[in-house]
Amino acid sequence: MKNISILGSTGSIGTQTLDVIRNNKDRFNVVGLAVNSSIEVLKQQIDEFNPIAVSVYDEKKAEELKKQVDIEILSGKEGLNKMATLEEADTVITSVVGSIGVIPTLKAIQAKKNIALANKETLVTAGDIIMKEVKKNNVNLMPIDSEHSALFQCLNGEKKEDINRLIITCSGGSFRGRTKEELKDVTVKEALNHPTWNMGGKITIDSATLMNKGFEVIEAHHLYNIPYENIDVIIHPQSIIHSMIEYVDGSIMSQLGIHDMRLPIQYALSYPKRIPNKLPKLCFEEYNSFTFSIPDIETFPCLRYAYDAGKIGGTMPSVINAANEVAVREFLKGRIRFLQIPETIRKAMDTHNLIKNPDIDDIMKADEWAREFTEEELR
Ligand code: MN
Repeated sequence: MKNISILGSTGSIGTQTLDVIRNNKDRFNVVGLAVNSSIEVLKQQIDEFNPIAVSVYDEKKAEELKKQVDIEILSGKEGLNKMATLEEADTVITSVVGSIGVIPTLKAIQAKKNIALANKETLVTAGDIIMKEVKKNNVNLMPIDSEHSALFQCLNGEKKEDINRLIITCSGGSFRGRTKEELKDVTVKEALNHPTWNMGGKITIDSATLMNKGFEVIEAHHLYNIPYENIDVIIHPQSIIHSMIEYVDGSIMSQLGIHDMRLPIQYALSYPKRIPNKLPKLCFEEYNSFTFSIPDIETFPCLRYAYDAGKIGGTMPSVINAANEVAVREFLKGRIRFLQIPETIRKAMDTHNLIKNPDIDDIMKADEWAREFTEEELR
């Protein structure tokens, strides 16, 4: 029996994680749940999964929930950190959105919890520090991101030294194939209409700008300790091949499957075991072809910016991430145009005073600086 605490249990990954647990109640047990403010959904989750404690980030909502259920309810950053370090938890699922996930993930690792990581911003902003702590505390960090789960599986039984390059596949997002001119007036609704994956709002916009893929490159760099020069992105609109590894002999391993996040979630929870499920199996007859192409980084420069930020290192990935969070939030609210997202991010990068070897405080300060800068720019 694995005891699990979920940070971000009412979001897209959180609810799908609970679905995996629902179907494997003899294997997994929920001990903690943390949410931002959705107490109605949280209340249902408490009734169904019976955790020891929960946390609601929004203090008013936490007070409201206290009147409705009779378990320990925490709130604020402290509550989130408590759910990350809950004594009874073996594994912590980090599925909150944004750099708010960094500190709780770090605390969970230091409390010797195994991590199933869905919050990619954690590795993007603080990858060096996180991976050092993972080693030091001898815990497992399993990626939930489908591409990184694929890379992990392609590495099974192989040696890291034998890797020639990582090939991360990319659907291309909602605007694949469009020109810059055609991106000028796109709406939020169009951007949210992802061709293959059904995901939360922020990540769907990140997919449309290709920033999501850029973050995944940085994530892969940290997870597998591969130089940026040896990580390639390839457009594969069918989203069936979830990523590949080319080895020194030219042989390529890939992992395939339907595009359903419950697959990588389940693997992250059950590893090293594989367990059966009732999800539909991949049906090759449905596909006439699998196609590949090179991403258009002139039209979608966020991918290039992420490579740049990764190679520069230090506080730069934190800046690109925070600037992106603010710009995407403003776009989702309908306040800025789609093309202002990359524009503003580039400005933040060019203005930032880099710290080469930051500690976690430097990283959080760079994050704050980039937020303020971007907000000012977009006002
Ligand atoms: Mn992904």
